[in-house]
Amino acid sequence: MTIQEQYELLEKTVRGYNTGADFNAIHAAYEYAEKCHEGQKRKSGEPYIIHPLAVAQIVAENLKLDSESIEAALLHDVIEDTPATHGDVAKRFSPTIADLVEGVSKLTRIQYATKEDEQMENLRKMLIAMSKDIRVILVKVADRLHNMRTMEYQSPEKQKQKSLETMEIYAPIAHRLGMQRIKWELEDLSLKYLDPVGYHEIVTKISAKSQENDAFLQRTSLEIGDRLNEQGIDHIVYGRIKHPYSIYRKMFNQNKSLDEIFDLYAFRVLVASVGDCYNVLGVIHDLYKPILGRFKDYIGTPKPNGYQSLHTTVMGTEGVPFEVQIRTRQMHDFAEYGVAAHWKYKQNGMGAGTEGKYEWVRRLLENQEGADAEDYIHSLKVDMFADEVFVFTPQGDVQNLPAKATPIDFAYAIHSAVGNRMVGAKVNNRIVTLDHILKNGDIVEILTSKAAKGPSRDWMKIARSAEARSKIRQWFKKEKKEENIANGRSAFEQELKHCGVSMKDVTAPENLPVLLKKVAYNSLDEMYAAIGYGGFTAQKAVGRMHNELLRIARKDQSEIQESKPEPAAPKKIKSEQGIIVEGLDNCLVKFSKCCTPVPGDEIVGFITRGYGVSVHRADCPNASPERRAGQEGRWLKVSWGEDTNDSYPTTIELICKDRLNLLLDVSAALSSTKTFVSGIQSRSTEDEFAIFRIEIRVRDGEQMKSVMNRLNQISGVLSITRPAG
Ligand code: MN
Repeated sequence: MTIQEQYELLEKTVRGYNTGADFNAIHAAYEYAEKCHEGQKRKSGEPYIIHPLAVAQIVAENLKLDSESIEAALLHDVIEDTPATHGDVAKRFSPTIADLVEGVSKLTRIQYATKEDEQMENLRKMLIAMSKDIRVILVKVADRLHNMRTMEYQSPEKQKQKSLETMEIYAPIAHRLGMQRIKWELEDLSLKYLDPVGYHEIVTKISAKSQENDAFLQRTSLEIGDRLNEQGIDHIVYGRIKHPYSIYRKMFNQNKSLDEIFDLYAFRVLVASVGDCYNVLGVIHDLYKPILGRFKDYIGTPKPNGYQSLHTTVMGTEGVPFEVQIRTRQMHDFAEYGVAAHWKYKQNGMGAGTEGKYEWVRRLLENQEGADAEDYIHSLKVDMFADEVFVFTPQGDVQNLPAKATPIDFAYAIHSAVGNRMVGAKVNNRIVTLDHILKNGDIVEILTSKAAKGPSRDWMKIARSAEARSKIRQWFKKEKKEENIANGRSAFEQELKHCGVSMKDVTAPENLPVLLKKVAYNSLDEMYAAIGYGGFTAQKAVGRMHNELLRIARKDQSEIQESKPEPAAPKKIKSEQGIIVEGLDNCLVKFSKCCTPVPGDEIVGFITRGYGVSVHRADCPNASPERRAGQEGRWLKVSWGEDTNDSYPTTIELICKDRLNLLLDVSAALSSTKTFVSGIQSRSTEDEFAIFRIEIRVRDGEQMKSVMNRLNQISGVLSITRPAG
């Protein structure tokens, strides 16, 4: 057949199912492709245009696709293999055609390596996800089919590689899209190169008995046909030998020789209606003895990819078992052409345009959700509902990431160490920013350095995957912990110096458990980490350990005094408990019992004899000018520091009209504010008043005010005060 004849056949084929096709455009595509590929030769020595023509022929003949698909098939290699660009094609034809061609080229560019199953599944998903328009994958499958048909001109290496790819990627895709015919052919062609010995054994043995086989097929077809005619069921019946790969797989799975294979023959009965399908089934089971457990009703329960048919295996009159598949014409078209048949029915049928362009594909695919995992259908996705992106490592491994993933997600998907050491990323060999959105088929390379400082907090916002985010968080927790322990330790040691207690004293086995108990940490490291992280402060730590530390310090001192006759100068102790004493860095602080100051109160300090500085509220009568007279030098300015204690004891006085259940209401109010109450004294007066003196612990004046407000709401409360003096 000349090239011209091949083109004419294409037009004729298209006209056969689509008289309204745009033949001018198809012809223009053919001419443009021929011009672009001019001078190029296939491995067979033929002009290159043979290939796109053949692919278009498959697209027309096997898939019966629309004009745009035919044009795209004719042009499918011009962007990849000739100087023509997407822009050229878009201008000359249409942006849609250019997109289709570009889509096919992208799939062509993907390199596959032999991978484990999971990788293969990712590759299949990626291919489908990349084919934003389902026609892209259909043209690509046709392209692969023709390449497999002409594989004999390739080197043995290439034959094996392409065949493996076809077996692992394209045949399953064809299956998933329901295109049984193409799937079988792809499988058989692949098998031919993957296991030439096994393939030829099957083919040779079958063809050796081909006369015998043909006779059997014909006899049985007639037998079935006659009976159906008797019953008045309109039908088509034909028999075939199962295709080599399906026999091969049976031999392999059941570890049997060809002669032992149960059913080599399959018959197909096509009828007009679903009712007839079941009628035919009855006839068949009447005619032959059905083999138990081999009947499958894929009409009642279609296969995940939409396949419908009744299957039964029966024992023939000659003792030869065979399978019978019964289905309607339409089911048959769907079985043979899959998605492409949906296309065809949609195109010619009613309701075209009433739903989105690919709505039917979506529905088809959605219907398959939750079906057999082995059919992979649940993961079949086209772009309209893709929430994943598939990218490659430089080694060709596929990583499956959430849509809009960035190099950060990719790096952490590889390994947290890769993420933590990442200093940059390349996508398709170009340096990109870390917030670069990855696209299907991108080859991503992560640049790492041992000197990398680790992730930044911003990465958490950029990363799309929960995995990356959690790994980054882990890093911060862990990495910070070491840093924190170091920082916390030095802060604690600094603070400790002021108490005149050495680290050795703290870590001494007789002291450490008591001290840790005071701060409620299990270990010093834990406490250091908290101090470094900011969850605790060194001042608070020393503050809580204060009395214990004092005891230790005194003990030390007395030991020193025992050994040395001259008393050592008492070591200074820094102000603490949240109080800054002006002019005095290190001194003991206590809070006066008379006015119980809390953070927020204006305060003054008084140097006591023997026990550091006593802190009073500025309005405490004991700090009044009269009381200060004569000892002004002992009064100091003090203020609240930033690191106040968790709580301070203070006292509130309540004067109420006495009544039943008053104490109960006061208790309930205190409890509702979650106030820590250390004591309540109450007394009733003769004139039926009740006076409560409530000792509580509060964080600061704010909290105290809210407690006072709450108490004030109790019926009968006349006044609330903070006693002083
Ligand atoms: Mn091609």
